[in-house]
Order: sequence, then structure tokens, then C-alpha cells
Amino acid sequence: MRLKNIPGSRETIAASDLVIHEPEKLKGRWSGEFGRKGRLAIEIGMGKGKFLMGMAEKDPDTDYIGIEKYSSVLLRAIQKLQAAPRDNVRLIRMDAEYISDVFAPGEVDVIYLNFSDPWPKDRHAKRRLPSRQFLARYDAFLKEGGRIEFKTDNRELFDFAVEEVEESVFEIKSITYDLHADSVMNEGNIMTEYEERFSALGNPIYKYILERKKN
Ligand code: SAM
Repeated sequence: MRLKNIPGSRETIAASDLVIHEPEKLKGRWSGEFGRKGRLAIEIGMGKGKFLMGMAEKDPDTDYIGIEKYSSVLLRAIQKLQAAPRDNVRLIRMDAEYISDVFAPGEVDVIYLNFSDPWPKDRHAKRRLPSRQFLARYDAFLKEGGRIEFKTDNRELFDFAVEEVEESVFEIKSITYDLHADSVMNEGNIMTEYEERFSALGNPIYKYILERKKN
């Protein structure tokens, strides 16, 4: 998702206290930011934030951090959050490549990847958010017993993601090739913007949930 550059978006973001401007300084201290030792969930590539805010409303005992690379997109999420403020949500503008600088070992309970950019060229595979390189980064800060949830309508990206799990410390705990027809995995599902758009076209939604392999 890349919106047109919106004049003033960088200034609005800089002035927003919903955005964490120096997230590296909170590494290992996120519970202090939220003022409680709650569960911590992050969504990487959250777009305009529909899923993140839906989850935060449904699950007020968990703190949610949305990470988005582009200012023009983050601006939309800020506007949404300003319209319906929530204490348990914060936003970060950053490229997830540097995510290991922001979270300490064992700090995050759940990582959500929704409709991640496919980066179709082979030489860009390591930029895909469910790649083995990113799974290794997630391993560094995911709590013992934590999980990664990924959904997409892109079959090539999903098949790639499933293969990448083999090259990681994770294993697939649940998988579906038609989320909306799977009564167990679809229970409580909050749709993202892309999910609404692509399922309305009749595309099936693929999803997996990963946990660390048990020794
Ligand atoms: N998750 C939303 C949804 O399902 O509706 C948005 C999906 S959109 C296809 C992917 C989003 O991820 C875009 O907003 C993009 O800017 C963001 N993104 C892609 N790569 C990223 C990265 N390395 N770090 C942070 N955000 C990223």
C-alpha cells in the first residue's frame, strides 16, 4: 500500500503523541510505556490500521504496536486512532528491517503479518516479511510460547512463507487455505483493509500460525 505523498504528513507524524518517535529507547521497556505489564502484540506493515485497532478494541488487556514504513499510510492510521482513541495502541514509522533494534529478547507475545508486500522478484525474497531472514529477527524478541500469525490472498507468497518455516526455528501449528470457510481458524477474525477488498473479489485467504519448535 503506497498512498500519494500527502503534504504535511511528516509534520503531523512528528507532532503526534500516538507515534513513538525514538522506539529504540524503549527496547526492553515497552511495559513502562503502556504503564502495565500486559501482553504485547505487534503488527508489521499495518497499513491504515483497521486490524490493529479492531484487535485493540476486542482485547483491551493486550497492548498493540503498529509498525508502518510509509508516512502517507501512517497518517491514515493516526487519523483513525485520533477519531477513536485507545490507551493500548502505539504506532511506529520504521522499516521492519531494523526491528531488532526496538524489541528485547522475550518482549513480544504475538507478531501479526497481514497481506505483506510480495516482492515478486527472487532477488528481493529476503525483504518479504515472512522470509527466513525476518523469521530469525522475530525469534530474537518473541516470548517463549509466543506466536506469529500471517495471512494473505497471495498464493505464491504463502507457499514461499510455508517453505521458509522449514529454514527457521518455528513450526506450523495451524494452517488454512480458506480462512473464511474455516470455522475454527476464522473464529474472532478481524479483517484487514486488504482482506476486505480481496475476499470481496472472491479470493480465498490463506493463513498460518507459527510457534517455536519444541526440542
Ligand atoms: N496490513 C494491511 C492490510 O492487510 O490491509 C496493509 C497491507 S499492504 C499490502 C502492506 C503494508 O506493509 C504497506 O502499508 C507497506 O507500506 C507496509 N510495509 C511493507 N514492508 C514494510 C516494512 N519492511 N516495514 C514496515 N512496513 C512495511
